[in-house]
Amino acid sequence: MEQHGNSEKRGAQPEPQDHGGQASKGAGKLYVVATPIGNLGDISARALAVLAQADLVAAEDTRTTGHLLAHHGITAKLVALHEHNEMQRAAELVARIKAGKTIALVSDAGTPGISDPGALLVARAREAGISVCPIPGANAAIAALSAAGLAAPHFLFYGFLPARSAARRTALEALRELPYALVFYEAPHRVTECVAALAAILGGEREIVIARELTKLFEAIHHCRLDQAGAWLASDANRQRGEFVLIVSGAQAEAQQGLPAEAERVLRLLLAELPLKQAAALAAAITGARKNELYARALELRAPDSV
Ligand code: SAM
Repeated sequence: MEQHGNSEKRGAQPEPQDHGGQASKGAGKLYVVATPIGNLGDISARALAVLAQADLVAAEDTRTTGHLLAHHGITAKLVALHEHNEMQRAAELVARIKAGKTIALVSDAGTPGISDPGALLVARAREAGISVCPIPGANAAIAALSAAGLAAPHFLFYGFLPARSAARRTALEALRELPYALVFYEAPHRVTECVAALAAILGGEREIVIARELTKLFEAIHHCRLDQAGAWLASDANRQRGEFVLIVSGAQAEAQQGLPAEAERVLRLLLAELPLKQAAALAAAITGARKNELYARALELRAPDSV
């Protein structure tokens, strides 16, 4: 299905000539264009120029993108590319680009391919030797990190955790020891249970930043201990509405107060297989950490309510 935006074409600046030098002569190009995550003003001048000049805009939802384009006075030919048709549509779009067309890929919000469709089209285009050009802009994870104020030089972007609790537990257990801030996306109807799982599996003493409705009217950014986050959400129904980024501090901050992260990791692994005393002794031999500290930590970890 193709649709047309319903407003005038904008007098945008031309996009500079191909700077990648990868495209074959006469071939078109694929632009991956970031769009706003809420506030329609959060789109770059270059993104608007590319959207105005593209032969075709491949959009996750043509109506959503139609509204954005209309807001900026852009008329463009739109084609739907979403998770249900991406495979077939990617082949068609690659053929069009090879025939010389320029296509701009957008998702409903933020950066395409980031917890959104787009990666498959990009992969097919690159395989076909097509020049793929990112037009950077809004992304909810980066916006949340920029305003979180966590002293986290490294972070891991996870996106959406599994919806089912057993799969979510498994996913979180694999993340538990990582010394990086963890960045999750979550839907409003699952945010309460997600925060409870984060506290239970990662440990309630970690910090969380709850970034809600970024760039929108009811934007809110709240920072607290993970074991306080459930009560904060529950105390006002509005706090559970909208779109969420959840950032949890990494395991390193926790380990810095006690054992080195590597000693903690080795101890946990050994404790899963061995009696407590033996696990502590072996962990000391492997990591060089002090045996009595490892023993004390092993006692904590074996305590019935430990994380
Ligand atoms: N591609 C997007 C990006 O670059 O951020 C992400 C799309 S993903 C389908 C949608 C999720 O991103 C939402 O469920 C929410 O977790 C997060 N998100 C998107 N917009 C947001 C906003 N304005 N405030 C907070 N989180 C947002």
